[in-house]
Amino acid sequence: MSEIDVKKRIPVREQEPKERAKNFDEVCLGYNKEEAVAEASRCLNCKKPFCVEGCPVGIDIPGFIAKVKEGDFKAASEIIGQSSSLPAVCGRVCPQESQCEGVCVRGKMGDPVSIGKLERFTADWARENGIKPSVNAEKKNKKVAVVGSGPSGLTCAGDLAKMGYDVTIFEALHKAGGVLVYGIPEFRLPKDKVVYPEIENVKALGVEIKTDYIIGRSETIDELLENEGFDAVFIGSGAGLPMFMGIPGEQALGVYSANEFLTRNNLMKAYLDEYDTPVNCGKKTVVVGGGNVAMDAARTALRLGSEVHVVYRRSEKELPARAEEVHHAKEEGILFDLLTNPKEILSDENGNVTGIRVIKMELGEPDESGRRRPVEVPGSEYEIECDTVIMALGTSPNPLISSTTKGLEVNRKKCIVAEESGATSREGVYAGGDAVTGAATVILAMGAGKTAAKSIDEFLCSR
Ligand SMILES: Cc1cc2nc3c(=O)[nH]c(=O)nc-3n(C[C@H](O)[C@H](O)[C@H](O)COP(=O)(O)OP(=O)(O)OC[C@H]3O[C@@H](n4cnc5c(N)ncnc54)[C@H](O)[C@@H]3O)c2cc1C
Ligand code: SF4
Repeated sequence: MSEIDVKKRIPVREQEPKERAKNFDEVCLGYNKEEAVAEASRCLNCKKPFCVEGCPVGIDIPGFIAKVKEGDFKAASEIIGQSSSLPAVCGRVCPQESQCEGVCVRGKMGDPVSIGKLERFTADWARENGIKPSVNAEKKNKKVAVVGSGPSGLTCAGDLAKMGYDVTIFEALHKAGGVLVYGIPEFRLPKDKVVYPEIENVKALGVEIKTDYIIGRSETIDELLENEGFDAVFIGSGAGLPMFMGIPGEQALGVYSANEFLTRNNLMKAYLDEYDTPVNCGKKTVVVGGGNVAMDAARTALRLGSEVHVVYRRSEKELPARAEEVHHAKEEGILFDLLTNPKEILSDENGNVTGIRVIKMELGEPDESGRRRPVEVPGSEYEIECDTVIMALGTSPNPLISSTTKGLEVNRKKCIVAEESGATSREGVYAGGDAVTGAATVILAMGAGKTAAKSIDEFLCSR
């Protein structure tokens, strides 16, 4: 590779916006070997690596990058594997810009090192070269049940298996992976290529995954502990219950929650001709919300052939979605109606959506979140014609587990109350991820799963 400017990142190759707006293939193509080695050479191997402090699972970032620089990708993958069981996933979807890369020393005088893209390169190389994690721990002859197979459950299960526990994951859906499989679209996170092989790696550690098994219906947590011989339980059941606005017309035909819309497309493959899953995405779609979920729903609707408007009540600066996702959405042709809020969904005599009545907003004083509160501009209502509306307003935990588990404390948002260690109000029952925090991020869920695995080990060793 020719001389590089150390202040600038090695650019990553992507599918052209016009091309990718019509397909579900991965947008980002990642680094090749040469590019990865060149980018790794930008790392300063800092004595005090702030990047590690910025990583919720504490990956030895300078350590693995040094190995990439030497071209020893196997050693690099082993270093990442000590801290993360889902590196190819994290390399793709973690908000690195506000974590490791946000505090990278190289970023003070130029672009931060592309830590996420290097993690992705290393994990992809390891998978393509058949490198698998191994487990040599002595058997503890104790059983732990994990509820949910999202990032928190998979991480907790993997870490416990590495310590020698017999671990069974109980998953309500027919496929393991949680939001990684049913929520985040194929064009950001390929399932067969990336997610399923990482789940297979967790299974290779000895973890059993039972799908179509709803804790609270098929069996309760108390039954797992009292009748099935489990010594401890980790709850990583996520926050999958969608919220709505409560405005008139939300029951109309053609209104989806983002969760339902994305599940039909991702888990049930509605976008593929060979699948029968229906998804009635029309000619013009309005997506309400401004987070990652809204961007995923909007970009999916676009790929299904719809013109897409994102309606968000604050300004661009406050959009909670990752900057990269907003940039990609704009490049692909998504239109943003900012400082705009829905008032009513309009429908015809058959109950089908025909449009959405919205009102312009302006930003007032900061609210309790620190962001300026949007207030309505009187007399500024207008209608946007559309045939599909997708509500992407956030989610909360499903109360099924808390309502069927004796003495499990939840807060007013129905999130399970847990200490930093993951311990809940029930002895032997731990929890983490979105079920505790409400909708958050993959890496925070993984961090919680890791911490809980350590706490469960301490609890079981002390008995
Ligand atoms: C569309 C979308 C896009 C996102 N994009 C990003 C992103 O780019 N970057 C990022 O970091 N984060 C992103 N997130 C957030 C991230 O995916 C979540 O924070 C993370 O998946 C939470 O992990 P978890 O293990 O707590 O729960 P989940 O991933 O929700 O997994 C919980 C699992 O538990 C199962 N379950 C629930 N109840 C039961 C029960 N009673 N019995 C058995 N199983 C049960 C569920 O079926 C599910 O499989 C996104 C979320 C969504 C919805
Ligand atoms: S902070 Fe940046 S430059 Fe320093 S070790 Fe970490 S990645 Fe390398």
